[in-house]
Amino acid sequence: MRAKVNQNICLNDYKNVWIIAEQRNGKIEPVTIELIGEGRKLADILSRELIVAVCGYEMKEETEKLLHYGVDKVCYVESPLLKDFSTDGYVKAFADLINERKPEIVLVGATSLGRDIGPRLAARLGTGLTADCTKLEIDETDNKLLMTRPAFGGNLMATIVCPKNRPQMSTVRPGVMEKAHFHEEKTGEVEVIVPALTKEDIRTNLEQVIVADQKKVNLVDAKIVVSGGRGLKTAEGFALVQELADTIGGVVGSSRACVEAGWIDASHQVGQTGTTVRPDLYIACGISGAIQHLAGMSESKYIVAINKDPKAPIFEVCDYGIVGDLHKVIPAMIEQIKEN
Ligand code: FAD
Repeated sequence: MRAKVNQNICLNDYKNVWIIAEQRNGKIEPVTIELIGEGRKLADILSRELIVAVCGYEMKEETEKLLHYGVDKVCYVESPLLKDFSTDGYVKAFADLINERKPEIVLVGATSLGRDIGPRLAARLGTGLTADCTKLEIDETDNKLLMTRPAFGGNLMATIVCPKNRPQMSTVRPGVMEKAHFHEEKTGEVEVIVPALTKEDIRTNLEQVIVADQKKVNLVDAKIVVSGGRGLKTAEGFALVQELADTIGGVVGSSRACVEAGWIDASHQVGQTGTTVRPDLYIACGISGAIQHLAGMSESKYIVAINKDPKAPIFEVCDYGIVGDLHKVIPAMIEQIKEN
């Protein structure tokens, strides 16, 4: 189905940068703070306000915390019908608000929730959406948003503009943008909005939430990530990676090759189709450095690579490279660290 595009709009009617906040069980998700960090930069370049829109119920106190991150305003749409996420309810509430307030830019997290509502919201608003962006800039000649995302299997980066419609919308990959900083002092205010929403607007009914029986891998917030690749040779090779990670307080990551081989769960995958990480330290063990892997970790502060092939592409992006057999190098590293 093709979305109906707004043909006759006046671009000058649209102002400010908006963030669609994500919340689960009444708590704001970290991706929102990343979007605020990026949104603030865009709003400052455009000399606009940064506004965060939140849908929920009994979350006033939680929404006030957002005022510590340098936002100009929080629009909190409150209703018992918005307590739990529903595509229908959230899309209607956000769309009504955006139609009324007319933001120039709307950023949504490229999370499972954001990927659900982002395109529907764009269709409802009659505008376009650039999905899964890894970079956002303002073209200062005409103030348009330049939205960059990987294309053709990550082999090139495409920069997309939305020339004729507003708002300019983008879903932004989690873990890529720098989080906004917490300030002791609050800025702005929370405006509580009661939506025109009825039970009939929501076609689904949440009966039960079943939490996946799986140890959560928090790669996004990890300060240290130790990742294994096909060079580990077997699933058992991950025991070595885990030991190094445990020794230095890190989280285990993986290349897609190991996930596809069934050596480790997909929740550990780093890269274009996995998680994007930007830890202080990333150690790549037996990973060649394919472009799709680099897309998810090249923003790390320090990168250490262990690979037996001196020509492996990972050595082009690393700060420290160790050419050698990981089965010898990793135990030696663990021994050294434990001694000190
Ligand atoms: P390989 O490329 O096989 O590299 C193994 C490395 O181990 C080699 O460099 C070798 O020299 C080294 N080695 C071997 N033995 C040893 C040893 N004993 N000691 C030290 N080093 C050793 N990949 C991802 O990782 N994440 C993604 O999100 C992702 N998304 C993708 C999306 C698309 C659309 C496509 C097409 C591909 C994607 N890939 C992704 C796959 C990617 O292209 C590579 O195939 C993959 O990253 C390779 O994983 P690897 O480095 O572990 O394996």
